[in-house]
Amino acid sequence: MPITNTTDLSALLQHMLAQCQPLYRSGKVADYIPALAQVAPQQAAVAVATLDGRLHSAGAAQQSFSLQSISKIFGLVMAMNRLGDELWQRVNMEPSGQPFNSIVQLEWEQGIPRNPVINAGAIVVADVLVSHYSASKTAFLTFLRRLTAEEAIYADQQVYLSELEHGNRNAALAYLMKSFGNIEAEVPQVLEHYFHQCATAINCEQLARSLLFLANRGVQPHSNEQVCSRRDAHRVNAILSTSGMYDQSGEFAFKVGLPAKSGVGGAIVAIVPQFGVITAWSPPLNRFGNSVVAMQLIQQLADELGLSLF
Ligand code: GLU
Repeated sequence: MPITNTTDLSALLQHMLAQCQPLYRSGKVADYIPALAQVAPQQAAVAVATLDGRLHSAGAAQQSFSLQSISKIFGLVMAMNRLGDELWQRVNMEPSGQPFNSIVQLEWEQGIPRNPVINAGAIVVADVLVSHYSASKTAFLTFLRRLTAEEAIYADQQVYLSELEHGNRNAALAYLMKSFGNIEAEVPQVLEHYFHQCATAINCEQLARSLLFLANRGVQPHSNEQVCSRRDAHRVNAILSTSGMYDQSGEFAFKVGLPAKSGVGGAIVAIVPQFGVITAWSPPLNRFGNSVVAMQLIQQLADELGLSLF
C-alpha cells in the first residue's frame, strides 16, 4: 500500500475533511425516520483502521451516529454463520436496480429479495436471527461489542421507537414475504429485531475497527478470532461491491472500486482487502440515500491512495 507514513495519512484526512465543508448544503438529512431528522447536519468524520492495528481519524470520529443499513452487514454475517448455504435459498445475491425499500420487485419475484442489503433481504436475515437466537437483539449487540472490543455499544431507544412507529413500509415488505412463506417468525418480532439493529449507535472509529475481518479473510486482527469463513468474507465483499451503495452502487464501483455499504444515518464504510477499513460520516444525504460528504471523502481517499480493486 502506498501510504506507510502515518503522519501523512492523518494530515491527508484532516485536509480532505476541511475541503468538504461546502458540500454539507448539497444534501438533506433523512427525515422519514423522525428521530434522524433531529441530527445536526454540519458534522463530519473520517477514520481509517488498518490490519496492523493502527487507527487514523479526523473530525468528529468519536461522535456516535445511527448505524442504520450498515447493520445489515453484521446481521448477514451472523445469519451466514448460523444457516450456511441454506440462506441463499431465501435471499438472492443480485443487484436490485430499485430503491432500498421498494416493494414492486418483491411481488414479481415471489417474496425472494434480490439481495441481503436491501430492506426486504435484511428483514429475511432478521427473521433468521429471531428464529435461531433466543434473544436476537442481545446477540446482535454482543456480536458488535466483540468486534469493536468495546462494551459501550447500544441501540438508541429514541431512534428504535421512532422506526417502530414509522415502519409501515418495512411492515408491508415483511407481510408480503410472509404471504409467500419466506418469513418464519411473527412479523412484529422480526421488525423489532430489524429496527433495533438499525438503531445501534456507533462512531467512525468503532465502525472501522469492527469490520477489519472483512479485509482480512474473515479473521479479526486484534483478537485473532475467525469471525466468518474466508469464503463468506469474500461473498459479503462481493455483495457489498454490487449492491452496498443503494441504487448508486454501479457509480460507486466505477468511481471508487471498493466493497462498501452506506446507511441513512449518513455513514459509509469501505473495505480495502489486505489493508483495512475506511469509514466516513456526515448526515446530509443525496437523492439515493448516500451521504454527500462521506462519498466525497471516500472517493478522494481511494483516489489519492490508489485503492480501487478494479
Ligand atoms: N432503518 C432504515 C429503514 O429500514 C434503514 C435504511 C437504510 O439505512 O438504508 O428504512
